[in-house]
Amino acid sequence: MHPFKVVVLGAGGVGKSALTVRFIQNVFLEHYDPTIEEAYRRNITVDGENSSLEVLDTAGAEQFTSLNEVYIKAGKGFVLVFSLTQEATLKEVDHLRKQIYQIKGDSGPIPIVVVGTKLDLVSEREVHQNTIKALASRWGLPFYETSAKRNWHVSEVFESLVRQMRTR
Ligand code: GDP
Ligand code: MG
Repeated sequence: MHPFKVVVLGAGGVGKSALTVRFIQNVFLEHYDPTIEEAYRRNITVDGENSSLEVLDTAGAEQFTSLNEVYIKAGKGFVLVFSLTQEATLKEVDHLRKQIYQIKGDSGPIPIVVVGTKLDLVSEREVHQNTIKALASRWGLPFYETSAKRNWHVSEVFESLVRQMRTR
């Protein structure tokens, strides 16, 4: 089966690797080299239908936008990650979102999910649910609040993306 190519993008330290590895291997990464970039494979059954995913956990600094362009061209679906504990990381999501539409053009809707991470760090939370709900609805994108540490809503992210990728 041809795998769906999924690219995980977002600012450094937001939890891209922790989210990816929780989904792929069902473990939590407390410490992970922020420079490691890795592609993983996993099969997933959604609504009784099996799909194969190739998930690229990116690690580029935000200024390497030329590299992002390569990933965006190759990807079919995108997980745009920010940290609920760092409001500033939402800006990078908006930037990446615009970059994706710019590069992919207007050839129909693009499978994208917006993910807020570190939901378990309640006392450090900076992004109110209303803020992200309003943004996601303005962007017309599905949105999930997750915790890779507690394994909250991680699989939902990829299931949502699979449903979008299947129809496109
Ligand atoms: P990346 O640079 O976006 O790949 O970020 P990492 O996945 O390496 O995560 C950065 C730091 O945040 C690490 O110390 C992780 O253990 C921590 N982290 C990631 N996700 C969560 C989470 O859901 N909850 C908590 N408490 N910490 C997290
Ligand atoms: Mg990483």
